[in-house]
Amino acid sequence: MNKRALSSRLRHRKALLRAESRENAQLKAALSQLQQRLFDREQLDSAISEENTVYKAIFDAQSDLGEGFFIVDGRKIVQVNEAFTRISGYSSAELHGLDSFLDLVPEDERAGLRERMDERLSGRDVHDHYETAIVHRDGHRVILEVAVKVIHLGTRPRILAIARDITERKRMEQALQDQNHRLQELDALKSCFISTVSHELRTPLATVMGYTEFLEERIGGPLTGEQAHYVAQIHAGAQRLEILVDDLLDFARLEAGTLRLNCEESDLVQTLRQVDEEFTPLAQVKGIDLQLRVSEASAPLIMDGMRIEQVVKNLLSNAFKFTPPGGQVRLSLALDDAEARVEITDSGIGIGAQHLPFLFDRFYQVDPSSTRAHGGAGLGLPISKALVESHGGRIGVRSQEKQGSTFWFSLPRDGCVHRQETVGFHTT
Ligand code: ADP
Repeated sequence: MNKRALSSRLRHRKALLRAESRENAQLKAALSQLQQRLFDREQLDSAISEENTVYKAIFDAQSDLGEGFFIVDGRKIVQVNEAFTRISGYSSAELHGLDSFLDLVPEDERAGLRERMDERLSGRDVHDHYETAIVHRDGHRVILEVAVKVIHLGTRPRILAIARDITERKRMEQALQDQNHRLQELDALKSCFISTVSHELRTPLATVMGYTEFLEERIGGPLTGEQAHYVAQIHAGAQRLEILVDDLLDFARLEAGTLRLNCEESDLVQTLRQVDEEFTPLAQVKGIDLQLRVSEASAPLIMDGMRIEQVVKNLLSNAFKFTPPGGQVRLSLALDDAEARVEITDSGIGIGAQHLPFLFDRFYQVDPSSTRAHGGAGLGLPISKALVESHGGRIGVRSQEKQGSTFWFSLPRDGCVHRQETVGFHTT
């Protein structure tokens, strides 16, 4: 072979080698692409299988929680969990065998539910959370709380539903409602009874008071010292009874929301001076140092003067009742641009912190025993609270056991909210 032919062969051989190595590289790339795809596919398969495991777990957990689950295709149930078989009483084979899911639904609910299902399947926006009922296999009505979603598998939309049996909850709600209704009736009956009894007590009480006063004024003739003492006792007892009857009547009116306020301009300073004067003799008898601390000459307010006087008297009576002889009771007034604040401070027995949150509740007493040292029916403070609050004011207490108490209330200076209106415990 000559030199030329040899070098041409060599070139040809080199070209072949280059082509071969190019092919090899292409083959390698294709191989690695294939490997990558295979790997991606494996990853996808494992992700799908993981997802399936998760869905299965959710499905089972829902069953464990008693949440029924089913899928409806058209009208037929195509998938159902164990909890729904328990809720309905039917086996899953029986449920799959039904022509329509609606066969489970009581007749009176069927039309409405069918309409809702059709609207949902046609893509309209209907509530996806509602209550419905099915008839259990044994014939009793089961109330369900249902949440539904439309899912698109392939071309057909399906309805996926999660159902919870709320029959027992509904029954309890109904029982509670009935009980509440009954309690309201009893409450109204009690208010009516209190109102009637207090009205009925008033007439004989007025007779007792009237004739006692005749006797005290010696209209029926002279009395011996002993007789005058007995008459004074009767009078004091009748006065206490009168306060109780008045409280009962106010209580009944506040319960019924029919207590009428008569707000007009009235002087709070004058009210406080008047009450102080009225209590001075009692303070002397009880050996209590009563002080009035009012620096203003007057404090005109739009208020129901009689009712505010009743509040002051009530708080002051309590201060006297719970302060032993030798103690002090102070009645004071502080004014600023926004409000007038009245405080009644005593050096009496005080109140434990555990009682303070309930003190203004109806009938609440710190010592509810029948052997307690002081009389009362637990009406004064709730009545005072309702009266102050219906004026747009606030009421409160600071106290410590054995350290005395300060009861206070404040009234807005620009007048009461409910001027000539009827008010009650729920008026704010
Ligand atoms: P009551 O007619 O029973 O006194 P109130 O509603 O006026 O009813 O008072 C409720 C309870 O609050 C009282 O029974 C008493 O235990 C407590 N209380 C009220 N005022 C005072 C006070 N100044 N000091 C101590 N305890 C008081």
